[in-house]
Formats: sequence, C-alpha cells, structure tokens
Amino acid sequence: VQISPSLRRVGNDVVAAYLVLADDGVTVVDAGLPGHWRALVRELAAAGRTVADVRGVVLTHGDTDHLGFAERLRRDHGVPVLVHADDAARARGEQKPPTHRGPWRLGPTARFLADAALHGGLRTTYVREVQEVADGDVLDLPGSPRVVGLPGHSPGSIAVHVPAVDAVMVGDALTTRHVLTGRTGPQPAPFTDDPEQALVSLARLAELDARWVLPGHGAPSDAGTAAVARQVRERSLSTS
Ligand SMILES: [Zn+2]
Repeated sequence: VQISPSLRRVGNDVVAAYLVLADDGVTVVDAGLPGHWRALVRELAAAGRTVADVRGVVLTHGDTDHLGFAERLRRDHGVPVLVHADDAARARGEQKPPTHRGPWRLGPTARFLADAALHGGLRTTYVREVQEVADGDVLDLPGSPRVVGLPGHSPGSIAVHVPAVDAVMVGDALTTRHVLTGRTGPQPAPFTDDPEQALVSLARLAELDARWVLPGHGAPSDAGTAAVARQVRERSLSTS
C-alpha cells in the first residue's frame, strides 16, 4: 500500500514492514513475517521495482515478528541485514526476549496469532549474519536512513529516520494498535522489556521532526513525531 510516492507499506495493521523508494534502489525497514514475502514482491512491483532493487534491510529490533523475510533476502539475494548491536543476538536467535506481562484480550490476541500463523510467523527464520549499526549512524542505503537509538522495547531498539521521505519507522518503540488488546491510537507497545526506558526514549523521538510515524503494528500516523510521542506518554499515564 502506498503511503506517499516514496513510501510503501508491506503487511497490514497487525504486522507491517516498510519500503523506502529512491533513485538508487529500495531500503526495506523490518521484514514482517515469513509469509509476507509475496506481499513484498507485490509492493515492489506496484512501485515498478523488483527484489533486485533492494539494497538493504534495516531491522528496528530483533523480535521474531520483524525478521520475516530478512534471511530470505540475505541468503537468496545477497541483501545485507542491519540491526543494532544490542539486538544482534536476538535477530540471530541466540537470545530470547523476556515473556509478556500486561493486559491482553482474547479476540485481538487470537487475531495476532492467526495472522502470524497465516504468514508463517510460527516458524521463524532467524538471520544468520547481520551487520551491526549504532545510534547516530547514517546508512549508505537508499534514502540515507539515520539510526536513532530508542532502547526500551528491547536494548537495541532503534528508529529509522529518513528525512528524504519525511518519515520515521519506529518499530515497537510505540504502537498505534495494541496487538493484544486491539486498542488503537498511539500508545506504549506490549512485549516491552523496559517500559520506563521506552518512555524516556520517546523524548528522542519527539525531537526528530518527521511527519510520518510508521509503527511495526498499527496504522501509519501523519501527525508528526512530537504529537505522537506526546499521545503515547499521555496514554501511558492514563493506563498505569
Ligand atoms: Zn513487534
């Protein structure tokens, strides 16, 4: 689905990945679930591109519902997969995230699990080799994405800021649709290792000044980073 002329989304409001389209190729941010491969190919085709145009995959963090087709792109197409050093072990499957404690409802949780099952998320393919990135790096990839460290959801959670397309992919630093409760609107994401640290990181996000805020789960927002960060903070206060 097209978000703007140089931005597309792969997946849906349950699980999403993003494409940044530039003259020198395509940067993929996150890799959804393994079964999103066909959706990836379809989105590329809709933009007049192919898998051969993909120059790199940047993972916002190492959780399994973001690794999807990353290893397939790496192994079969030689595409580098980049992740923050502190989440590299998670992306390689060497380190499991802590288990979830927090609110959940049966319907939305079942939908999340059903979507994961439908898209092959129950058999994760970890990434065998990753390139490690650090806070502040400007990546030599289409759109010149910049890495913004947002630890909290996981130690190596990052936002991927692409000023060229006025967007920031935030992974699970926040969500606009809670996968376990179905609640919509900007709010803290579930499965967060360190919720307090995640809220501290929001202040960094607020400073980025990007129009599009693109989460790993939930609808894209064009309200801007400052407004979205403020809403997440308010929501966290009202529910805690
Ligand atoms: Zn996620």
